[in-house]
Amino acid sequence: MAKQLTLLDFQERFPDDRSCYCLIRDRRWPDGFVCPKCGSKDAFLLTSLAYTYACKECRGHTSVTAGTIMHRTKLALRVWFWAAHLMATHSNGISARQLAAQMGIAYSSAWLLEQKLRRSMIDPSRDLLDGVVEIDQTEIPFHDNDAPRSPLKTGKILIIEAVEIRDRTSGKAQKPKPRGSKYLDTLSGRCRLAVIPSNEKPNIHAFIATNIAPGSTLISDGHASIPGLEGYRHDPRVIGNMAAHIPLQWIHRVFALLKRWGLGTYHGFRREHIDVYLNEFVFRYNRRYYRHVSFETILGIAAKHAPASYWDIVGQNNPRKGITMTRQRPRRRKTAEGMREDGTGPYSRGKNPKSSDDGTSR
Ligand SMILES: [Zn+2]
Repeated sequence: MAKQLTLLDFQERFPDDRSCYCLIRDRRWPDGFVCPKCGSKDAFLLTSLAYTYACKECRGHTSVTAGTIMHRTKLALRVWFWAAHLMATHSNGISARQLAAQMGIAYSSAWLLEQKLRRSMIDPSRDLLDGVVEIDQTEIPFHDNDAPRSPLKTGKILIIEAVEIRDRTSGKAQKPKPRGSKYLDTLSGRCRLAVIPSNEKPNIHAFIATNIAPGSTLISDGHASIPGLEGYRHDPRVIGNMAAHIPLQWIHRVFALLKRWGLGTYHGFRREHIDVYLNEFVFRYNRRYYRHVSFETILGIAAKHAPASYWDIVGQNNPRKGITMTRQRPRRRKTAEGMREDGTGPYSRGKNPKSSDDGTSR
């Protein structure tokens, strides 16, 4: 695991957009640029568009950020890099309002930036939990965005959770014991969380099947919806008058952390996007012993996360889609030297007849 970069190291390593671009390019194409449309390696860098390659074979243009979570971004790459670094190194994460203030960008940009970064926090190829796993449900309060203090607009979200038990001395997965035995000297391993619509069997069975490896031992509070699941060993505990955190200590510790985190960093969860916040919590929890996770993981440069637009994230259709807009002012493009209006650069169409031959204009 690489050493964590301090703020000064980070500033030195990424002083400008060019250094950010070089890192993305080297990660995406370690052996040199390859055109994603035709596979040709014969390409050159455009000066009229920022960090964009033009293929000599098919004449296609490919931006280094195309197809990543930074797809078609209007923010400077440095803002993305700094935001990913802050999200990765702050032990509790950072709210959009704090990020907006630190970066000098609008709250709406900071919110969308964080939503996109959080989508990289889930690893599509992650392994299932195994060994001895505690499983339980809880309710967490949420409040409505528009009426944060109104008691009428609040409610509870039902969350299901699973957490692995590990042996404290070896740090490895705990070996299952006979039913009802106590597990002493343990540690918690990885955890998984999900929102479920109700406590009914199908919801709980679906969560177990997608998150826990068959053959594992499930320790629960004896909830009636767990029995009947094939391929798992069930070890229910009788809670009775006992406080529930005594027989199921790890799961209740994680629930307590989740609730405090939601209140502390986000001043309470909202019902919308709750899945994304749960993913962020799981991401941080599962990496709590090596917090300085690489900011590259969060930028998703290597994992190839598909880009999500604002409309994908809010789950609505773009109301302007398909409507032809009349441009009021000349189009502004981000070029390698900064922003410029169409028709003002040295390579704009019409002014320099050579430009259409070398592919620098469409
Ligand atoms: Zn090509």
